Amino acid sequence: MKHLNRYDSILDLIGKTPMVRLRKMSQLAGAKVYAKMEAFNPGQSVKDRIVYHMINRAEMDGKLTPGSTIIEATSGNTGFSVAMISAMKGYDCILTVKDSASSDKIKMMRALGATVVKCPAKVPGDHPDSYYSKAKELAETLPGSYYLNQNFDKGNSEAHYLTTGPEIWEQSEGRLTHFVATASTGGTISGAGKFLKERSEQVQIIAVDSEASALKTYHEKGVFVPPTDSSSLEGVGKNIIPANVNFDTIDRFISVSDRSSSIAARYLAKTEGIMAGYSSGAVMAALWKIRAEIRPDDFIVVLFPDHGSRYLSKIYDPKWLLKMGYLSSDTQEDSLDHFGADETELPKAPAKPSEIRSPG
Ligand code: PMP
Repeated sequence: MKHLNRYDSILDLIGKTPMVRLRKMSQLAGAKVYAKMEAFNPGQSVKDRIVYHMINRAEMDGKLTPGSTIIEATSGNTGFSVAMISAMKGYDCILTVKDSASSDKIKMMRALGATVVKCPAKVPGDHPDSYYSKAKELAETLPGSYYLNQNFDKGNSEAHYLTTGPEIWEQSEGRLTHFVATASTGGTISGAGKFLKERSEQVQIIAVDSEASALKTYHEKGVFVPPTDSSSLEGVGKNIIPANVNFDTIDRFISVSDRSSSIAARYLAKTEGIMAGYSSGAVMAALWKIRAEIRPDDFIVVLFPDHGSRYLSKIYDPKWLLKMGYLSSDTQEDSLDHFGADETELPKAPAKPSEIRSPG
């Protein structure tokens, strides 16, 4: 049959993202390492999958009707997907974000017609001013509103169970040994992870977390210890325990520093030509941390949640790296030459140090 690559709506392009071999990383790790490229979704992130699924389901359940307003608390990517799908389907939407969200992301959500409410980042999750509380309050007071609630509505992990998991299994032709992805709401790792574990008990499900997060400790000790720091890693670093994190599906958590994550993302761009987001850097830094365990027969799939263009004013801006102390003028060249900076040493990357030598 002739394939015209022609679609009825932008929403038909959600999912079925490509998988790409990470040539340098495969060579360094001595195994097959592939990246699931979620920036290929029309909203340029993994979040298109869950928002589309949750909105469709709410429509079928009669919870969303013409004229409804969709509310969500978001680190930006979910907001973009909500704004895109709302624009297409004719809903209003109000998105609450942390005031630490990149200005690029906020501009994009507004460009799609969303109302964006900025809330303080440095307050506990249950504080009345937090972006969670604000979303809940809006949903309770605004007539005709519907709160998607990606942290607690199981439609989130269900979307990954139905789409991301099967795609990864098919694309790896059943040879998968490790699935490595960030955990925040937990939807990606738990939903895709559950599907993959059902296919093979042997597959290791590895969750990547920020050092400023409650999830790793909860997994290991079963206690909620709120993080004392906040992370500059957007989309990762939880101060709540979302219902979408299925701790039984996850074999282990690996936490990485913000610094390692930003440097790993930059290294990825320079060595693989893949300009991915900040949390993709976290995934690479985590993989590098466990490199000694990798065997030649391993088939590892890492998931890159979004595109680097959303972080031009952060990890891809040398001035920001210096301001955050992730690079200092004396060590910047060296730091750029390896993944996790703090704990790793990699062969020289084809970095262009002159690019960062004059940050001003
Ligand atoms: N990376 C980014 C950039 C994100 O926005 C998110 C979602 N908050 C994640 C990773 C983590 O994905 P999940 O919520 O499915 O655990």
